[in-house]
Amino acid sequence: MYTNFQKYLQQEIQQIKDDGLYKNERIIITPQSAAIKTQGEGDVLNFCANNYLGLADNKELIEAAKQAMDTRGYGMSSVRFICGTGDIHKELEKKISEFFGTEDTILYAACFDANGGVFEPLFTEQDAIISDSLNHASIIDGVRLCKAKRFRYNNADMADLEAKLIEAKDCRFKVIATDGVFSMDGNVAPVDKIYELAQKYDALVMVDESHSAGVVGKTGRGTTEQYNLRGKIEILTGTLGKAFGGAVGGFTTGKKEIIEMLRQRSRPYLFSNSIPPSVAGAAIKMFEIITKDNHLQDKLHDNTNYFVEKMKAAGFDIKPTQSAICAVMLYDAPLSQKFAAELSKEGIYVTGFYYPVVPKGQARIRVQVSAAHTKEQLDKCVNAFVKIGKELGILK
Ligand SMILES: *Cc1c(COP(=O)(O)O)cnc(C)c1O
Repeated sequence: MYTNFQKYLQQEIQQIKDDGLYKNERIIITPQSAAIKTQGEGDVLNFCANNYLGLADNKELIEAAKQAMDTRGYGMSSVRFICGTGDIHKELEKKISEFFGTEDTILYAACFDANGGVFEPLFTEQDAIISDSLNHASIIDGVRLCKAKRFRYNNADMADLEAKLIEAKDCRFKVIATDGVFSMDGNVAPVDKIYELAQKYDALVMVDESHSAGVVGKTGRGTTEQYNLRGKIEILTGTLGKAFGGAVGGFTTGKKEIIEMLRQRSRPYLFSNSIPPSVAGAAIKMFEIITKDNHLQDKLHDNTNYFVEKMKAAGFDIKPTQSAICAVMLYDAPLSQKFAAELSKEGIYVTGFYYPVVPKGQARIRVQVSAAHTKEQLDKCVNAFVKIGKELGILK
């Protein structure tokens, strides 16, 4: 009987609206890119996609996707272990291992699934997972699905991590889990120090490279490049849905026995469909493009530095960032929404975040820079920020 349940849902939804937390989706009618067309707001410059290397509308990737469809069809109609493994799935896994300098790789339909399926097959109630307080929802859910003891340390706080490692010292195996880049601030996790503590207390390390792969490190190989830890971190997870082309798909890459065990026991891998040939084919091409030379990574780093410096010079309060995420701090929740709405009228597409997505009193606008942005587009964004910043009394 739906009546009572319907009433309950209607009330809950109204409450979400009353709290100002209702999410409306903006509709894009062009390919994802630096300049897009939207329904309602017309032509805008996009500063809120995870399209860090600007590959979402790349012609070579589209061509590779079409070719893979022509030769391997539209879908696999199976999970990997029954009959969903194509030669290109194996080739893509190899490319990912080469890129990160790891021993083996397992693909998932999404990084959400990779994180959801990484802990439960590997750890039991005898073990401990020690997780950063700002980790992505998918890591939190993955931890929940596992029977291991849970410990949480304050974001990037190494003294607190050490205290938790000491608390967990009697557990059989310990694994420290962290995002590579924290998506609300743009800070890179101190993976060098995490690794040192892991050595000291005999723990494994798991890093989710979703926002760092393709972005962090000179060649975009992520936190292990940044900190000279290539091949050392036992478990890395990541997505094909951000810098790596932006389509869909996730992976876990690392020590070969870990990957082998995941192929046997990881539920999102065993019981969910294989990624389509078009995505596998295009992703193989994507690794060719970003390893043949470094121009996209260099462009992204140049663009990010340019944007952050200009915003600081204009007087904005920017969170220290080592990624392509630039958090423009406004602190006040209604102000962040007003600011984002005014920017939208100037043709700048960004998102304002406030509690509970970020801590109370820490409202901000998150700007995501891409290699696809031109200097003119970056200038246009900065100028719009300055104009609205003056109008709203944030800049003098
Ligand atoms: C985006 C993101 C994910 C989810 O990736 P999908 O492939 O879209 O499921 C997981 N972890 C982190 C840290 C992310 O930023």
